[in-house]
Amino acid sequence: MIRFENVSKSYDGNTLVVDALNLEISRGEFFVLIGPSGCGKTTTLKMINRLIPLTEGFITIDGKKISDYPIHELRWRIGYVLQQIALFPHMSIEENIAIVPELKQWKKERIQARVGELLEMVGLEPETYRHRKPSELSGGQQQRVGVIRALAADPDIILMDEPFSALDPISRSKFQEDLLHLQKTIQKTIVFVTHDIQEALKLGDRICVLNEGGIEQIGTPEEIVNSPATPFVQQFIESGSSPSFDIAKHLESIPNEATQLPYLSIDATWSEVLELMVTSDRVAVQQGNQIVGTLTREAVLQFLATEAKEKVGQ
Ligand code: ADP
Ligand code: MG
Repeated sequence: MIRFENVSKSYDGNTLVVDALNLEISRGEFFVLIGPSGCGKTTTLKMINRLIPLTEGFITIDGKKISDYPIHELRWRIGYVLQQIALFPHMSIEENIAIVPELKQWKKERIQARVGELLEMVGLEPETYRHRKPSELSGGQQQRVGVIRALAADPDIILMDEPFSALDPISRSKFQEDLLHLQKTIQKTIVFVTHDIQEALKLGDRICVLNEGGIEQIGTPEEIVNSPATPFVQQFIESGSSPSFDIAKHLESIPNEATQLPYLSIDATWSEVLELMVTSDRVAVQQGNQIVGTLTREAVLQFLATEAKEKVGQ
């Protein structure tokens, strides 16, 4: 359904940040793009709905080049969930969800019914939530609304760019379950970007591992894990199978100077934790925009020591 043929992208006319991609995504597939920060995931995603123009090659949807679609037809067919929650703060939840249906000039009753149905689908009681402002919802609830907003006008394709990265680990896991369930019921084609291998393995029908703008491997989760095609893929999987370090369980109090500490997101990956703890004795841990505690190098070392002991004991 979505086909990339020799797609390349250069922002500066010099270096290619996406380099001759060839891939095909089937209808109804949950397709995950994964790779380290800066490898070209967001660029690849945004080229699909023409938020970013290609430099070379072409992308087709149902056999037709995306450049041949009228731009609004393309945008209506393709829902897009951003990494950062981007609800309009002055609009109610209902108004936020109704943006594309309004543009498509759906009738008022139809829009209201659709909003109710979508809120229910993600466990938000419609009559409680439809008239609230985004600020009256928790971060996780706002992110849910971000997802159903992308579904509102029933697009065939949904692009999701690290939609769960702002959530705490528990809501994240819950949300992953919801999305899997949703995908099974609504049968959309989903292109999902993440840098978290565990998330990719959990969600993807197929996973495309990107590195420096090129494809290292495309395969099912089983194929990626059991027969990594390159040393890079192998390493990427190993880095993801890190100990289950739950930052929230190791938080300490917030000192006055917390705002001057380096900071870490509460859902940071294990490798992000390690990277920062090498150079810092203590970091501030943020959830959304709020500092929720600090993490010390000592706590991390202690955790490692316990892990090591358990391994020896096994
Ligand atoms: P990812 O989503 O995998 O982290 P991106 O697609 O955002 O990667 O970025 C790929 C590369 O392109 C990075 O080196 C990034 O710095 C660069 N890049 C991204 N957006 C722009 C832009 N608008 N202008 C110039 N360079 C960009
Ligand atoms: Mg990105």
